[in-house]
Amino acid sequence: MSDNIIIDFFDTRAYFDSRGLSYSDEGPNCSPGWVNVDCPWCGDSAKHLGFSLETNVGHCWRCGGKSIAKFVQEIEHCSWSEALAIMEEFQNYSKPGLLEKEGFIPPKDLIWPKGFTSLKDPRVTVKIVDDFLLKRGLDPITTKINHNLYYGGFLGDYRFRIILPVYIRRKLVTFMTRDVTGKAETPYISQPPREAVIPCKHTLYGYDDVAPGGPVVLVEGPIDQWKLGRGSLATWGTGWTMEQVALLRSLHPSKVYILYDSEEIAQDAAKQLSKAIWFCSTEVLYLDDKKDPGELTPEEGQEVMKELIGKWITNV
Ligand SMILES: [Zn+2]
Repeated sequence: MSDNIIIDFFDTRAYFDSRGLSYSDEGPNCSPGWVNVDCPWCGDSAKHLGFSLETNVGHCWRCGGKSIAKFVQEIEHCSWSEALAIMEEFQNYSKPGLLEKEGFIPPKDLIWPKGFTSLKDPRVTVKIVDDFLLKRGLDPITTKINHNLYYGGFLGDYRFRIILPVYIRRKLVTFMTRDVTGKAETPYISQPPREAVIPCKHTLYGYDDVAPGGPVVLVEGPIDQWKLGRGSLATWGTGWTMEQVALLRSLHPSKVYILYDSEEIAQDAAKQLSKAIWFCSTEVLYLDDKKDPGELTPEEGQEVMKELIGKWITNV
């Protein structure tokens, strides 16, 4: 199992077929459940390179462990991200039980920094946090409880920051932090990707509150997500990733609305994202009287959601 769901769900055989690649699934060099091809790295012509159909792990009997994504790169003569984009077109979500396997979410547990204080207890009040939320039209108590917010403390790497835990299928996979002073050079800082179970940029904030099979609304930031509520997902800025597209697909959405900020750069990113979402219909929207959904009151946010996804909100 890799920690990249595009690789995990890649349908190796369908890809080989589409490219007319000669492979075998039986014979002296082939184990059951594997497909073998000529290894491009060691000048092999006797199909020593095998890929497991279940896990997509690769191994050449002559030159060792291989990555299927690197193999695609080799065949297509392309970059890593171009290879992932191609692999995204050959996804097989009906692989037996793969989504339910722990491999979908790597089995390791997140190490939660000790200095973080839960803000769920109403007796814990950090004025600078409450002021930050109030300024954005959010009720501090319900926001802190509903989103299980933490405070990064007054010292350390995440001082004066709200900590936003990120869950995928009820598992804590990483966290994002948001400066509350307005003075930080970088308002949002994520947990270093290497320490995360799933890096922030591969997650969608709000994932567990989306009803699979229904319409969803993609927004840029977590505050947009708080305002729109259930059924909306934040991509952590306009720099969306193919991993997020793959994760989105695992919800089998019936339609995807993209509601990024109204500025041109955000709208361009939204259009690119809509092209990358090839598995259902999409619609790119923006608010013509506001810069971004984060400026809505929570009531206005609910109105927008009711209009866009209607009954799917209450179905969650
Ligand atoms: Zn080889």
